[in-house]
Amino acid sequence: MIQIDGVYQKVVKQSNRRKIFNYIRKKRIVTKLDIARDLDLSITTVSSNITWLIKKGFVTDNNHDSSTGGRKARLIEFNPGACYSIGVEFKELHARIVQVDLDYNLINELSVDRLDPDHIPEQTIELIEKFINENGLEKRIAGIGISVPGIVDRDHRLLVNAPNMEVQNIDFSSVMERFNPLPVYIENEANCAAFAEFKESDSKGTLCYVSITEGIGGALIINNRLINGTSNCAGEFGHMVIERDGRECHCGNRGCWEQYASEHAFMRLLKDKSLSLSIDEAFDIYGKDSVVSDLIDEYARQIAVGLYNIFMAFDPGVIIVGGFIARYEKILQPLISRWISEHTRFLVDREVPVVYSSFGRDAGVIGAGVFPFMDIL
Ligand SMILES: [Zn+2]
Repeated sequence: MIQIDGVYQKVVKQSNRRKIFNYIRKKRIVTKLDIARDLDLSITTVSSNITWLIKKGFVTDNNHDSSTGGRKARLIEFNPGACYSIGVEFKELHARIVQVDLDYNLINELSVDRLDPDHIPEQTIELIEKFINENGLEKRIAGIGISVPGIVDRDHRLLVNAPNMEVQNIDFSSVMERFNPLPVYIENEANCAAFAEFKESDSKGTLCYVSITEGIGGALIINNRLINGTSNCAGEFGHMVIERDGRECHCGNRGCWEQYASEHAFMRLLKDKSLSLSIDEAFDIYGKDSVVSDLIDEYARQIAVGLYNIFMAFDPGVIIVGGFIARYEKILQPLISRWISEHTRFLVDREVPVVYSSFGRDAGVIGAGVFPFMDIL
């Protein structure tokens, strides 16, 4: 790859800083020698980056390690509360605002039940201002991330279409202007969730995120980059066709995966058997009732088919499954794994790496909050 020297040096510098920061974040307390040895960096590089991190308050070096009995080494300690970001999440016309620290913990939050679809940017500004004031965050924020359930035009800070919110072409540039110079990100909810999971997973740079709720959404990270696709619809795994001329989908096509593996699809399976059970009740009697057990087995196979296709398309380091089914991991995972291992012909020494979301329902809003941290580290 040809790169102009100055740009290349800047990229290497940022990459070293990010590596060092993430290493300290993971280990919590380290010495400069630990960092240099484990990351294969020179002490000079480590020292200059540590000086920058101390200056910014991201790490401290106030303690001394005398455990080895030899010369005391200064200990570098991670400081997760050095700064915060704000994550905003829209679900239909509900908004949730959270404060996220450098460990991706939720510190404070505020929810609003009913937004006016005609004044979403203005209300967003008011809510963020209120949240900042109430929590004394005026000088402690790295930026703002906004998670939306729809297609986003990032260049124009535009929510192009969000069927669940029944809105189109919502322009968030006024939010950006109001909080300038803080960075403001607008991002699709699945991308936000994938980003949060990516930061906490051992994905080796390539991750597929699948959210199974009323429908099925998803996102893709390949070689450490979020992939949006040419038409912003990369990762729409729910609309992969798994049965030609199959069930009609609201997207206008037939046989889409979400018609067989979403929460709605599971409810339909129950209804088809005239079972008036909630999802929890159905999973509670798995193994005790043969009709319900067969139905859950069938549902798990439908999930497995889609996950297998995703694996074959991208060969990711990990597939992370979020949404309602993460609650039933103990029952579903063995069934899904069995189907995949019975059908794969390509994996000899490893399994398809399917794991369940560690953030649960918070993945989207935490991911929105994590975006601003990209700019500082
Ligand atoms: Zn569809």
